This record gives sequence, structure tokens and C-alpha cells, in this order.
Amino acid sequence: MSNNETLFQRAQITTPGGVNSPVRAFRSVGGTPRFIKKAQGAYFWDADDKRYIDYIGSWGPAILGHAHPEVISAVQQAASLGLSFGAPTEAEILMAEEICKLVPSIEQVRLVSSGTEATMSALRLARGATKRDKIIKFEGCYHGHADSLLVKAGSGLLTFGNPTSSGVPNDFTKHTLVLDYNDCTQLENAFKELGDQIACVIVEPVAGNMNLIKASDAFLQTMRRLCTEYGSILIFDEVMCGFRVALGGAQSIYNITPDLTALGKVIGGGLPVAAFGGKAEIMAHLAPLGGVYQAGTLSGNPVAVAAGLTTLKLIQAPDFYTNLTNQTQKLVGGLNAVAKELNIDFCADAIGGMFGIYFCKDVPNSFKQVMQADANKFKQFFHEMLELGIYLAPSAFEAGFVSAQHTNSVIETTISAARIALQKLT
Ligand code: PLP
Repeated sequence: MSNNETLFQRAQITTPGGVNSPVRAFRSVGGTPRFIKKAQGAYFWDADDKRYIDYIGSWGPAILGHAHPEVISAVQQAASLGLSFGAPTEAEILMAEEICKLVPSIEQVRLVSSGTEATMSALRLARGATKRDKIIKFEGCYHGHADSLLVKAGSGLLTFGNPTSSGVPNDFTKHTLVLDYNDCTQLENAFKELGDQIACVIVEPVAGNMNLIKASDAFLQTMRRLCTEYGSILIFDEVMCGFRVALGGAQSIYNITPDLTALGKVIGGGLPVAAFGGKAEIMAHLAPLGGVYQAGTLSGNPVAVAAGLTTLKLIQAPDFYTNLTNQTQKLVGGLNAVAKELNIDFCADAIGGMFGIYFCKDVPNSFKQVMQADANKFKQFFHEMLELGIYLAPSAFEAGFVSAQHTNSVIETTISAARIALQKLT
């Protein structure tokens, strides 16, 4: 039995499913999850000492590559001064200043410890500030695991969603309206019907939780216009795409100013930091100033902030995003070329350092189209690539991530492996 198998068996005795976050269990692709021992640059090594080129980058945070020496040194330095104080620090001010500088729609920001906290708190703030209950989200977007956001679409337009998780009472999701991503007409109709009751619209402007789906300009512009017209708050969930697709996030690419933004992943540089922020007049509703409660024992933790702040500094290096985008484009361009040569219904797409691979003819632009891609082919491809030392997201519904350490030779190795893997598909 391999070390990975032994560890997986052992883990399942004391941990439900053997993992601390479900997708790590390889349920949708089958097989044994790899237990990771160490990571460096574009690589990590499993419990059997097998090396992989890593394309999940801790599900987004590892934009600089793993164990960047300056981040590690900042963390060591901060840790030597104490792990947590429960009182404010200057580093938190620096972190907030950096976020406000880089994302101009954010006038004020609050640090939290996970993306779930960020979106959950932004939602409460939007409801508190507007004194309305209803929210709009889009099918296929994931915003963390807060109760009212774990909702799947109802059976038709303007039906409210049902919980997608047991343990969530219907009452908790009865105010959540679930619409189709990239569908402007549905959005217009929803606002026509219920606009004055809608507290907020929450959206991943680049969706990375149904593979990779880009919003159309018209979709986000319609959303912005309707929110302004009806006094609803527009929340961009940039936990994944923020600082990943561009230095100013997806909002800088689409040139749209949301009222609130949720951030996470990259801003923690691999440690638990997330944030939500936006217009100062909305943020003023938060405790201790206003009546919307939100708090956290480890919020703004000094060690985590040291990793985040150093990461935010390093991604501002000249040409950082040009290089990241170029490498990601090389990857998807190479994959598309091989698939075309082999005449396989496969395509890949990217934005900044995020990419999607789909076993279908054309790049999808909605959840329904993603669902029509060939999940079995993905499963086979995933395992062939894993065998060849390439670690892709273990799910056909997750985006992939490239880091600054994915050099030309790393990308070329990946494309050569993909040629072998795609040739083997039945
Ligand atoms: N929002 C988006 C867009 C995400 O991708 C995620 C996690 O993947 C979250 C929120 C939740 O973040 P966390 O896992 O840090 O709670």
C-alpha cells in the first residue's frame, strides 16, 4: 500500500471523509487523495515523495509559487514577535492601506480570516444598510458556506432557491433568489418584479467555481445599472479572482465599480486572511460604528497579515501580471493546439493567472453549458495527468491556477504530458 493510501485510511478514522475540506477527498474523480509533505515554487511532493507540478496553488493563494523566501522570512519575523494579540497592530493599517490603494472601489476595508466570513459579512452589511432582506445570486457561483448562500436554483424564473446542504432550514434561503449567470433578461425581470426589496446582488465577476466562466460585459453593466437604479448594493465576490486576474481584480478589467468587494486567497499569501470592503458610507454601518455586528478573534492576525502584506508588495513588481498572463496563455494555447491536432472535443480558456479546461467543443459561458461537458473524459484526463506528475484540480467544476514560478519549461512539460494523456482517452 502506498503512503498516500495508508494516510488516507488513517485520516478517515478521525476526520469525516479523511479531509478538512470536501474537494480534497477526490470524490468526483475517484482514487486516493495525495497527502502533501512539502511545496516549493511550482511543485509539491506527496507522502510517497512523488513530485507534481501544482496547478491548484492552494486553490488560488500561491500566486508567487510555494514558499517564496520573502514571504517565509516575513512570517518568521512576525511569529518571533508573538502569534496573536487580540488588539490592533500597525501591520493591519498597512494591509488596509495597500488594499484600498490597489482596489479603488474599496474606501474602507475590514480584515477577516476566510472568504466565507468575508461574503457572509458583506451580505449582512448589505441587508443592514438597505434594510431589505432579499438577495440575488447566480447558479454555479460559490460564495463560501454561509447558510443563505448555499442555495441551488429554483425551478424557474423568480422562484426562490432551496438549500443545497442539509442542515440549512428553508427559512434561511427563502430570501435568496437564484438566477442564471450571464442572463441579462432574467436580471432585468427580477428587478422589475422585486427591485425595491433587493438588498444586494452578489456575483463572481469571473466565476471559478463552475470551472472558469467569464461574465459578459453586458451582464455586469446591467447588474451595475439595476443596482444603482433600485438602491441595491452590488457585491463583487473577488475572493478567487481578486489579485489573480489583474492587480486591481476583475473590476479593473471590466471597469465596473461595485459597492462592496469580498477578497481572500491571494491577500493572505497562503495564511488565513480575507477581507470585505467598499464605500465608506456603507462600511460605517459596521460595529463598532453602526448596528451591523461582525467580529473575529484572529481577524488581522499579525503572522497572517505579514504573509499577506509581503505578497501584496511582491505582486506589484513591474510586469508581474503581464508575465503571469503570458504563462497562463502559453499553457492554454498549448493545450488547445494539442487537442486540435488530436481532434478531441476539448478547449481551454484563461484570464490572468486563472484557467479552465473543458471537455466540450466551445468555451462555455453558463452553468448549464459547463454541466454538458464530458465529466468522464475529465476524470480520465485528471488521472492520466496525475500519473504523469501534473496535479490539476480534482473536479471538473474548479478553475486552475498558474503561479509566477510556472516557467516555460514547467509549462512545456505540462503540455507534453497533456499530449500523452489526451492520446490515451477513450
Ligand atoms: N468566494 C469564492 C469566489 C470562493 O472561491 C471561495 C472559496 O473557494 C469563497 C468565497 C470561500 O472562501 P473560503 O474557502 O476562504 O471560506
